Amino acid sequence: MIKAVRGFKDVLPEESIYWQFLEEKTKNLLKAFGFRELRIPVLEKLELFDRGIGSTTDIVEKEMYTFKDKGGELVAMRPEATASIARAYIEHALHLKDPLGKYFFIGPMFRYERPQAGRLRQFNQINIEVFGAKSPSLDAEIIALLHYISCDIGIEDGVTLEINHIGCKKCRPLYREILMNYLNLSKENLCDDCKRRLERNPLRILDCKKQNCKNISLNAPKIIDYLCEECKTYFDAVVDYLGVYKVPHIINPMIVRGLDYYTGIVFELITTELGAQGAVAAGGRYDHLVEELGGPRVAGIGFAIGEERAVEMIKKRKKLDLPSPFFFFALLGEEAKRRCIPIATDLRKSGIYTELEHEEKSLKSQMRKANKLKAKYAVIVGEDELRRGIAIVRDMKEKKQFEVSLKLESFLSLCQGGAE
Ligand code: ATP
Ligand code: MG
Repeated sequence: MIKAVRGFKDVLPEESIYWQFLEEKTKNLLKAFGFRELRIPVLEKLELFDRGIGSTTDIVEKEMYTFKDKGGELVAMRPEATASIARAYIEHALHLKDPLGKYFFIGPMFRYERPQAGRLRQFNQINIEVFGAKSPSLDAEIIALLHYISCDIGIEDGVTLEINHIGCKKCRPLYREILMNYLNLSKENLCDDCKRRLERNPLRILDCKKQNCKNISLNAPKIIDYLCEECKTYFDAVVDYLGVYKVPHIINPMIVRGLDYYTGIVFELITTELGAQGAVAAGGRYDHLVEELGGPRVAGIGFAIGEERAVEMIKKRKKLDLPSPFFFFALLGEEAKRRCIPIATDLRKSGIYTELEHEEKSLKSQMRKANKLKAKYAVIVGEDELRRGIAIVRDMKEKKQFEVSLKLESFLSLCQGGAE
Protein backbone atom coordinates (compact mmCIF):
# COMPACT_ATOMS: atom_id res chain seq x y z
CA MET A 1 0.00 0.00 0.00
CA ILE A 2 1.24 3.48 -0.85
CA LYS A 3 1.20 5.90 2.05
CA ALA A 4 1.64 9.66 2.23
CA VAL A 5 5.18 11.02 2.35
CA ARG A 6 6.63 11.45 5.85
CA GLY A 7 5.81 14.88 7.24
CA PHE A 8 2.94 15.38 4.79
CA LYS A 9 -0.58 14.74 5.97
CA ASP A 10 -4.18 14.52 4.89
CA VAL A 11 -6.89 16.54 6.55
CA LEU A 12 -10.06 14.48 6.75
CA PRO A 13 -13.54 16.05 6.67
CA GLU A 14 -14.08 15.82 10.45
CA GLU A 15 -10.97 17.92 10.92
CA SER A 16 -11.45 20.09 7.87
CA ILE A 17 -14.38 21.83 9.52
CA TYR A 18 -11.97 23.24 12.12
CA TRP A 19 -9.78 24.56 9.32
CA GLN A 20 -12.79 26.15 7.67
CA PHE A 21 -13.78 27.74 10.96
CA LEU A 22 -10.29 29.18 11.42
CA GLU A 23 -10.04 30.49 7.88
CA GLU A 24 -13.56 31.91 7.70
CA LYS A 25 -13.27 33.75 11.01
CA THR A 26 -9.88 35.12 10.02
CA LYS A 27 -10.93 36.16 6.52
CA ASN A 28 -13.95 38.04 7.87
CA LEU A 29 -11.75 40.04 10.19
CA LEU A 30 -9.11 40.62 7.51
CA LYS A 31 -11.76 42.00 5.19
CA ALA A 32 -12.85 44.48 7.84
CA PHE A 33 -9.23 45.56 8.25
CA GLY A 34 -8.89 46.13 4.50
CA PHE A 35 -6.69 43.16 3.57
CA ARG A 36 -6.83 41.72 0.08
CA GLU A 37 -5.81 38.28 -1.06
CA LEU A 38 -2.60 37.94 -3.04
CA ARG A 39 -1.91 34.39 -4.23
CA ILE A 40 1.66 33.32 -4.74
CA PRO A 41 3.04 30.22 -6.47
CA VAL A 42 4.44 27.20 -4.64
CA LEU A 43 7.70 27.30 -6.57
CA GLU A 44 10.19 30.19 -6.66
CA LYS A 45 13.74 30.64 -7.81
CA LEU A 46 16.02 29.43 -5.05
CA GLU A 47 17.83 32.75 -5.11
CA LEU A 48 14.75 34.55 -3.77
CA PHE A 49 14.93 32.74 -0.43
CA ASP A 50 18.72 32.87 -0.28
CA ARG A 51 18.58 36.63 -0.57
CA GLY A 52 15.28 37.23 1.15
CA ILE A 53 15.40 35.00 4.21
CA GLY A 54 19.17 35.02 4.66
CA SER A 55 21.76 32.38 3.94
CA THR A 56 22.64 31.79 7.61
CA THR A 57 19.10 30.97 8.71
CA ASP A 58 17.91 27.46 9.59
CA ILE A 59 15.46 27.59 6.73
CA VAL A 60 18.03 28.29 4.04
CA GLU A 61 20.86 26.27 5.61
CA LYS A 62 19.00 23.04 6.05
CA GLU A 63 15.23 23.09 5.66
CA MET A 64 14.48 23.93 2.05
CA TYR A 65 13.06 21.66 -0.60
CA THR A 66 15.19 22.59 -3.57
CA PHE A 67 15.75 20.94 -6.89
CA LYS A 68 16.79 21.57 -10.44
CA ASP A 69 13.83 21.50 -12.78
CA LYS A 70 14.03 19.87 -16.20
CA GLY A 71 15.25 23.11 -17.74
CA GLY A 72 18.13 23.22 -15.26
CA GLU A 73 16.72 26.08 -13.17
CA LEU A 74 17.38 25.91 -9.42
CA VAL A 75 14.03 26.26 -7.70
CA ALA A 76 12.63 25.88 -4.19
CA MET A 77 9.21 25.08 -2.78
CA ARG A 78 8.35 28.13 -0.72
CA PRO A 79 9.34 27.66 2.95
CA GLU A 80 7.48 30.84 3.93
CA ALA A 81 5.43 33.52 2.19
CA THR A 82 6.88 36.93 2.98
CA ALA A 83 9.75 36.77 0.50
CA SER A 84 7.37 35.57 -2.24
CA ILE A 85 4.82 38.28 -1.52
CA ALA A 86 7.60 40.89 -1.54
CA ARG A 87 8.77 39.46 -4.88
CA ALA A 88 5.25 39.76 -6.31
CA TYR A 89 4.95 43.28 -4.90
CA ILE A 90 8.11 44.32 -6.73
CA GLU A 91 7.40 42.38 -9.92
CA HIS A 92 3.98 44.01 -10.39
CA ALA A 93 5.12 47.45 -9.15
CA LEU A 94 2.33 47.35 -6.59
CA HIS A 95 3.77 50.33 -4.72
CA LEU A 96 2.46 52.48 -7.59
CA LYS A 97 -1.03 51.00 -7.34
CA ASP A 98 -1.40 50.48 -3.59
CA PRO A 99 0.43 53.20 -1.63
CA LEU A 100 -0.46 51.14 1.42
CA GLY A 101 -0.47 47.50 0.30
CA LYS A 102 -2.34 45.20 2.67
CA TYR A 103 -2.25 41.58 1.55
CA PHE A 104 -3.05 38.19 2.95
CA PHE A 105 -2.31 34.71 1.71
CA ILE A 106 -3.33 31.30 3.02
CA GLY A 107 -1.51 28.20 1.88
CA PRO A 108 1.03 25.45 2.45
CA MET A 109 4.74 25.97 3.14
CA PHE A 110 7.47 23.35 2.85
CA ARG A 111 10.37 22.77 5.19
CA TYR A 112 12.48 19.68 5.57
CA GLU A 113 12.35 19.40 9.36
CA ARG A 114 12.07 16.47 11.72
CA PRO A 115 8.34 15.68 11.77
CA GLN A 116 6.70 15.62 15.21
CA ALA A 117 3.49 16.85 16.82
CA GLY A 118 2.92 20.40 15.57
CA ARG A 119 5.82 20.20 13.13
CA LEU A 120 5.34 18.97 9.60
CA ARG A 121 7.20 19.17 6.33
CA GLN A 122 4.16 20.57 4.59
CA PHE A 123 2.36 22.92 6.95
CA ASN A 124 -0.05 25.76 6.39
CA GLN A 125 0.11 29.41 7.23
CA ILE A 126 -2.16 32.41 7.19
CA ASN A 127 0.11 35.28 6.14
CA ILE A 128 -0.57 38.95 6.61
CA GLU A 129 1.71 41.61 5.12
CA VAL A 130 1.58 45.41 4.98
CA PHE A 131 3.88 47.35 2.66
CA GLY A 132 4.42 51.08 2.38
CA ALA A 133 4.16 52.57 5.86
CA LYS A 134 5.96 52.70 9.15
CA SER A 135 4.31 54.11 12.20
CA PRO A 136 3.93 52.93 15.80
CA SER A 137 0.13 52.95 15.58
CA LEU A 138 0.28 50.75 12.46
CA ASP A 139 2.59 48.29 14.20
CA ALA A 140 0.22 48.20 17.14
CA GLU A 141 -2.70 47.67 14.77
CA ILE A 142 -1.06 44.65 13.14
CA ILE A 143 -0.22 43.14 16.52
CA ALA A 144 -3.78 43.93 17.62
CA LEU A 145 -5.11 42.15 14.53
CA LEU A 146 -3.31 38.99 15.62
CA HIS A 147 -4.85 39.36 19.07
CA TYR A 148 -8.34 39.90 17.63
CA ILE A 149 -7.97 36.82 15.44
CA SER A 150 -7.06 34.78 18.51
CA CYS A 151 -10.23 36.12 20.18
CA ASP A 152 -12.47 35.38 17.20
CA ILE A 153 -11.27 31.78 16.99
CA GLY A 154 -11.65 31.51 20.76
CA ILE A 155 -8.10 30.65 21.83
CA GLU A 156 -7.16 33.91 23.55
CA ASP A 157 -7.26 32.28 26.99
CA GLY A 158 -4.46 29.91 25.98
CA VAL A 159 -1.95 32.27 24.40
CA THR A 160 0.26 35.19 25.31
CA LEU A 161 1.35 37.86 22.93
CA GLU A 162 5.02 38.62 23.41
CA ILE A 163 6.79 41.53 21.81
CA ASN A 164 10.33 42.81 21.48
CA HIS A 165 12.36 45.28 19.45
CA ILE A 166 15.50 43.99 17.79
CA GLY A 167 17.01 47.33 16.81
CA CYS A 168 17.95 48.89 13.51
CA LYS A 169 20.97 48.97 11.23
CA LYS A 170 22.49 51.54 13.56
CA CYS A 171 22.13 49.89 16.96
CA ARG A 172 21.95 46.18 16.18
CA PRO A 173 25.62 45.76 15.13
CA LEU A 174 26.77 47.11 18.50
CA TYR A 175 24.46 44.78 20.39
CA ARG A 176 25.55 41.89 18.17
CA GLU A 177 29.15 42.55 19.21
CA ILE A 178 28.27 42.70 22.91
CA LEU A 179 26.17 39.56 22.68
CA MET A 180 28.90 37.73 20.80
CA ASN A 181 31.45 38.60 23.49
CA TYR A 182 29.13 37.33 26.19
CA LEU A 183 28.31 34.10 24.36
CA ASN A 184 31.95 33.46 23.56
CA LEU A 185 32.63 33.06 27.28
CA SER A 186 30.32 30.04 27.38
CA LYS A 187 31.06 28.81 23.90
CA GLU A 188 31.96 25.29 25.09
CA ASN A 189 28.49 24.73 26.50
CA LEU A 190 26.54 25.79 23.43
CA CYS A 191 25.04 23.15 21.13
CA ASP A 192 26.78 22.47 17.82
CA ASP A 193 24.25 24.52 15.86
CA CYS A 194 24.76 27.49 18.16
CA LYS A 195 28.55 27.19 18.01
CA ARG A 196 28.15 27.73 14.31
CA ARG A 197 25.65 30.53 14.80
CA LEU A 198 28.05 32.36 17.09
CA GLU A 199 30.01 33.84 14.21
CA ARG A 200 27.27 34.08 11.65
CA ASN A 201 24.02 34.85 13.45
CA PRO A 202 24.48 35.19 17.24
CA LEU A 203 21.02 36.67 17.87
CA ARG A 204 19.53 33.42 16.68
CA ILE A 205 21.11 31.64 19.70
CA LEU A 206 18.59 33.42 21.93
CA ASP A 207 15.91 31.45 20.09
CA CYS A 208 17.54 28.01 20.51
CA LYS A 209 15.27 25.43 22.14
CA LYS A 210 18.10 23.37 23.75
CA GLN A 211 18.17 23.64 27.54
CA ASN A 212 21.92 24.41 27.83
CA CYS A 213 21.67 27.22 25.31
CA LYS A 214 18.54 28.52 27.00
CA ASN A 215 20.38 28.70 30.34
CA ILE A 216 23.21 30.64 28.79
CA SER A 217 20.84 33.00 26.99
CA LEU A 218 18.96 33.74 30.18
CA ASN A 219 21.67 36.04 31.51
CA ALA A 220 22.74 37.44 28.18
CA PRO A 221 22.72 41.22 27.63
CA LYS A 222 19.28 42.33 26.48
CA ILE A 223 18.84 44.17 23.20
CA ILE A 224 16.36 46.49 24.81
CA ASP A 225 19.19 48.03 26.87
CA TYR A 226 21.18 48.78 23.73
CA LEU A 227 18.56 50.33 21.46
CA CYS A 228 19.38 53.71 19.96
CA GLU A 229 17.26 56.68 20.99
CA GLU A 230 15.12 56.43 17.86
CA CYS A 231 14.34 52.72 18.31
CA LYS A 232 13.68 53.15 22.01
CA THR A 233 11.17 55.97 21.39
CA TYR A 234 9.51 53.94 18.63
CA PHE A 235 9.20 50.85 20.80
CA ASP A 236 7.68 52.85 23.68
CA ALA A 237 5.17 54.36 21.28
CA VAL A 238 4.12 50.93 19.97
CA VAL A 239 3.65 49.67 23.51
CA ASP A 240 1.62 52.76 24.29
CA TYR A 241 -0.66 52.21 21.26
CA LEU A 242 -1.16 48.56 22.24
CA GLY A 243 -2.96 50.04 25.24
CA VAL A 244 -5.18 52.10 22.94
CA TYR A 245 -5.99 48.95 20.92
CA LYS A 246 -6.58 47.10 24.22
CA VAL A 247 -4.14 44.31 23.48
CA PRO A 248 -2.82 42.31 26.45
CA HIS A 249 0.86 41.62 25.88
CA ILE A 250 4.18 41.15 27.58
CA ILE A 251 7.59 42.43 26.61
CA ASN A 252 9.98 39.53 26.17
CA PRO A 253 13.57 40.53 25.41
CA MET A 254 14.34 36.94 24.33
CA ILE A 255 12.18 37.12 21.24
CA VAL A 256 14.30 37.28 18.12
CA ARG A 257 13.20 35.90 14.81
CA GLY A 258 14.86 33.12 12.87
CA LEU A 259 14.71 35.01 9.59
CA ASP A 260 17.20 37.72 8.65
CA TYR A 261 14.80 40.24 7.22
CA TYR A 262 13.33 41.34 10.52
CA THR A 263 14.15 44.76 11.93
CA GLY A 264 12.53 46.67 14.77
CA ILE A 265 9.34 45.30 16.26
CA VAL A 266 9.02 41.50 16.48
CA PHE A 267 6.29 39.48 18.17
CA GLU A 268 5.04 35.96 18.78
CA LEU A 269 1.80 34.41 19.91
CA ILE A 270 2.89 31.72 22.32
CA THR A 271 1.16 28.84 24.07
CA THR A 272 2.19 26.19 26.57
CA GLU A 273 -0.52 23.80 25.37
CA LEU A 274 1.31 22.26 22.43
CA GLY A 275 4.40 20.84 24.07
CA ALA A 276 7.66 21.91 22.48
CA GLN A 277 5.97 23.78 19.64
CA GLY A 278 5.08 26.96 21.48
CA ALA A 279 4.72 29.48 18.68
CA VAL A 280 1.26 29.67 17.16
CA ALA A 281 2.07 32.80 15.18
CA ALA A 282 5.04 35.06 14.67
CA GLY A 283 5.93 38.22 12.86
CA GLY A 284 7.59 41.59 12.83
CA ARG A 285 8.77 44.54 10.83
CA TYR A 286 10.98 44.07 7.76
CA ASP A 287 11.88 47.49 6.47
CA HIS A 288 14.74 46.52 4.14
CA LEU A 289 13.38 43.36 2.55
CA VAL A 290 11.77 44.95 -0.50
CA GLU A 291 14.82 47.07 -1.21
CA GLU A 292 17.19 44.16 -0.70
CA LEU A 293 15.21 42.17 -3.25
CA GLY A 294 15.75 44.94 -5.79
CA GLY A 295 12.53 46.90 -5.22
CA PRO A 296 11.82 50.42 -4.03
CA ARG A 297 12.61 51.53 -0.50
CA VAL A 298 9.37 50.46 1.12
CA ALA A 299 8.79 49.52 4.76
CA GLY A 300 6.93 46.36 5.71
CA ILE A 301 5.37 44.52 8.62
CA GLY A 302 3.52 41.22 8.87
CA PHE A 303 2.97 37.93 10.58
CA ALA A 304 2.20 34.29 9.92
CA ILE A 305 -0.16 32.04 11.83
CA GLY A 306 0.67 28.33 11.87
CA GLU A 307 -2.69 26.79 11.01
CA GLU A 308 -1.96 23.27 12.32
CA ARG A 309 -1.15 24.72 15.72
CA ALA A 310 -4.12 27.10 15.75
CA VAL A 311 -6.42 24.22 14.76
CA GLU A 312 -5.08 22.06 17.62
CA MET A 313 -5.97 24.82 20.06
CA ILE A 314 -9.44 25.31 18.61
CA LYS A 315 -10.09 21.56 18.86
CA LYS A 316 -9.26 21.62 22.56
CA ARG A 317 -11.98 24.21 23.11
CA LYS A 318 -14.72 23.70 20.61
CA LYS A 319 -16.72 20.82 19.21
CA LEU A 320 -17.67 21.28 15.58
CA ASP A 321 -19.80 18.77 13.71
CA LEU A 322 -20.03 18.02 10.02
CA PRO A 323 -23.24 19.46 8.59
CA SER A 324 -26.14 17.04 8.40
CA PRO A 325 -28.82 17.03 5.69
CA PHE A 326 -32.03 18.91 6.12
CA PHE A 327 -33.81 16.43 3.87
CA PHE A 328 -33.09 12.83 3.05
CA PHE A 329 -35.24 11.56 0.18
CA ALA A 330 -36.01 7.88 0.78
CA LEU A 331 -37.28 6.70 -2.58
CA LEU A 332 -39.07 3.52 -3.59
CA GLY A 333 -39.01 2.80 -7.30
CA GLU A 334 -37.91 4.46 -10.51
CA GLU A 335 -40.94 6.75 -10.85
CA ALA A 336 -40.47 8.21 -7.34
CA LYS A 337 -36.85 8.94 -8.15
CA ARG A 338 -37.77 10.76 -11.36
CA ARG A 339 -40.39 12.87 -9.59
CA CYS A 340 -38.13 13.78 -6.66
CA ILE A 341 -34.84 14.55 -8.41
CA PRO A 342 -36.07 17.98 -9.67
CA ILE A 343 -37.41 18.88 -6.22
CA ALA A 344 -34.19 17.81 -4.47
CA THR A 345 -32.17 19.71 -7.07
CA ASP A 346 -34.14 22.91 -6.53
CA LEU A 347 -33.69 22.56 -2.77
CA ARG A 348 -29.95 22.13 -3.25
CA LYS A 349 -29.82 25.14 -5.56
CA SER A 350 -31.39 27.24 -2.84
CA GLY A 351 -28.60 26.12 -0.51
CA ILE A 352 -30.47 23.48 1.46
CA TYR A 353 -28.39 20.40 2.20
CA THR A 354 -30.39 17.55 0.65
CA GLU A 355 -29.51 13.89 0.09
CA LEU A 356 -31.33 11.34 -1.97
CA GLU A 357 -30.98 7.60 -2.37
CA HIS A 358 -29.65 6.52 -5.76
CA GLU A 359 -29.59 2.79 -5.20
CA GLU A 360 -32.54 0.42 -4.98
CA LYS A 361 -32.74 -0.07 -1.22
CA SER A 362 -35.44 -1.17 1.16
CA LEU A 363 -37.24 1.54 3.10
CA LYS A 364 -35.72 0.19 6.27
CA SER A 365 -32.18 0.54 5.05
CA GLN A 366 -32.86 4.02 3.66
CA MET A 367 -34.26 5.14 7.01
CA ARG A 368 -31.17 3.74 8.69
CA LYS A 369 -29.06 5.84 6.38
CA ALA A 370 -31.13 8.98 7.07
CA ASN A 371 -30.61 8.33 10.75
CA LYS A 372 -26.89 7.83 10.40
CA LEU A 373 -26.54 11.08 8.45
CA LYS A 374 -28.58 12.80 11.19
CA ALA A 375 -31.04 14.17 8.64
CA LYS A 376 -33.68 16.48 10.06
CA TYR A 377 -36.43 15.12 7.83
CA ALA A 378 -36.73 11.91 5.86
CA VAL A 379 -38.99 12.34 2.84
CA ILE A 380 -40.60 9.05 1.89
CA VAL A 381 -42.05 8.64 -1.59
CA GLY A 382 -43.28 5.36 -3.08
CA GLU A 383 -45.96 4.33 -5.60
CA ASP A 384 -48.84 5.01 -3.25
CA GLU A 385 -47.58 8.52 -2.39
CA LEU A 386 -47.06 9.28 -6.06
CA ARG A 387 -50.64 8.32 -6.84
CA ARG A 388 -51.92 10.63 -4.11
CA GLY A 389 -49.48 13.44 -5.06
CA ILE A 390 -48.04 13.56 -1.55
CA ALA A 391 -44.87 12.72 0.38
CA ILE A 392 -44.56 11.39 3.89
CA VAL A 393 -42.23 13.54 5.93
CA ARG A 394 -40.70 12.07 9.04
CA ASP A 395 -39.18 14.32 11.65
CA MET A 396 -36.27 12.11 12.64
CA LYS A 397 -35.74 13.58 16.07
CA GLU A 398 -39.38 13.92 17.14
CA LYS A 399 -40.14 10.56 15.50
CA LYS A 400 -43.36 12.03 14.08
CA GLN A 401 -44.76 11.72 10.55
CA PHE A 402 -47.01 13.91 8.49
CA GLU A 403 -48.03 14.32 4.87
CA VAL A 404 -47.25 17.22 2.55
CA SER A 405 -48.15 17.69 -1.08
CA LEU A 406 -45.36 16.62 -3.38
CA LYS A 407 -44.10 19.98 -4.59
CA LEU A 408 -41.14 22.24 -3.93
CA GLU A 409 -43.13 24.80 -1.92
CA SER A 410 -44.05 22.24 0.76
CA PHE A 411 -40.39 21.56 1.43
CA LEU A 412 -39.33 25.18 1.25
CA SER A 413 -41.89 26.08 3.89
CA LEU A 414 -40.53 23.33 6.14
CA CYS A 415 -37.15 25.03 5.94
CA GLN A 416 -38.37 28.38 7.14
CA GLY A 417 -36.86 29.11 10.49
CA GLY A 418 -34.66 26.07 10.56
CA ALA A 419 -32.73 25.93 7.29
CA GLU A 420 -28.96 25.77 7.27
P1 ATP B 1 9.59 27.33 15.12
O1 ATP B 1 10.40 28.11 16.10
O2 ATP B 1 8.41 26.61 15.73
O3 ATP B 1 10.41 26.48 14.20
P2 ATP B 1 9.67 29.35 13.11
O4 ATP B 1 10.26 30.53 13.78
O5 ATP B 1 10.51 28.51 12.24
O6 ATP B 1 8.91 28.43 14.19
P3 ATP B 1 8.08 30.96 11.36
O7 ATP B 1 8.95 30.87 10.18
O8 ATP B 1 8.04 32.23 12.12
O9 ATP B 1 8.35 29.75 12.34
O10 ATP B 1 6.58 30.56 10.94
C1 ATP B 1 5.42 31.11 11.57
C2 ATP B 1 4.57 30.03 12.19
O11 ATP B 1 4.43 28.91 11.32
C3 ATP B 1 5.15 29.42 13.44
O12 ATP B 1 4.88 30.22 14.54
C4 ATP B 1 4.45 28.08 13.52
O13 ATP B 1 3.16 28.23 14.09
C5 ATP B 1 4.31 27.71 12.07
N1 ATP B 1 5.33 26.72 11.67
C6 ATP B 1 6.62 26.95 11.34
N2 ATP B 1 7.24 25.81 10.97
C7 ATP B 1 6.32 24.82 11.07
C8 ATP B 1 6.31 23.41 10.83
N3 ATP B 1 7.39 22.78 10.38
N4 ATP B 1 5.17 22.71 11.04
C9 ATP B 1 4.05 23.34 11.47
N5 ATP B 1 3.98 24.66 11.72
C10 ATP B 1 5.09 25.40 11.53
MG1 MG C 1 11.55 26.71 12.42
